[in-house]
Amino acid sequence: MDEKDVKILLVEDEESVASFVKTELEFEDYQVVWAEDGKKALDFFTQEKPTLILLDWMLPVYDGMTVLRRIRKQSDVPIIMLTAKNSASDISSALDQGLDDYLTKPFEIEELLARIRVVLRRLEKMRQQNDVPDTSLEFGPLKIDLLKHEFYCDNEKIYLTPKEFALITELMRDPEQVKSRDELLDTVWGYDFVGQTNTVDVYIRTIRNKIGEPYKKIIKTMRGLGYCLRKLDDNHEKS
Ligand code: CA
Repeated sequence: MDEKDVKILLVEDEESVASFVKTELEFEDYQVVWAEDGKKALDFFTQEKPTLILLDWMLPVYDGMTVLRRIRKQSDVPIIMLTAKNSASDISSALDQGLDDYLTKPFEIEELLARIRVVLRRLEKMRQQNDVPDTSLEFGPLKIDLLKHEFYCDNEKIYLTPKEFALITELMRDPEQVKSRDELLDTVWGYDFVGQTNTVDVYIRTIRNKIGEPYKKIIKTMRGLGYCLRKLDDNHEKS
């Protein structure tokens, strides 16, 4: 992806911070659109169709969480949050809402630029993967429609967040193959994750709960190794 084709929506109410970040991003050849409150962020998101969003947490009109939630209802656009908040529950709830990454203020501009590059590389990779003719994946009662971004179990549609969807998709690409937590973190989150190392386990638990009995047992924990999918019949034989 050429930098000139990348449009970044910068949502930040502090003018000094915004103008500094904007200057640095433009120096890297990115296009930058600046919104100084949550309402403008949503307006500009619709009008400008940004490639990526840098989102401050504490904002006038709507706060960053509200903006994140509203955008996630209609788009998977990468969002990096810039936040002075660092309590674990705030961050993990934002990650659950589909936040891609975050940086705690004050941050080094070099680190922000590095995170942006990682997110853009992941986006590029996803676009390339979408070019392959795979349109659906199936394993037992589990089915994924890759075009519509829908997940089904036993013909019933189950709502998954973007990260949950990416995780189950990754497992369903090679269902019988064991994938380690590191491998899954790398593919789905795409960087050296700074959060808790049990992130994958937390997401797997949520997906299992959404699938419910009896099919949740298809997602198998391979102790000390990671996760894979196994047909229910195989599970029964072993237990
Ligand atoms: Ca602020």
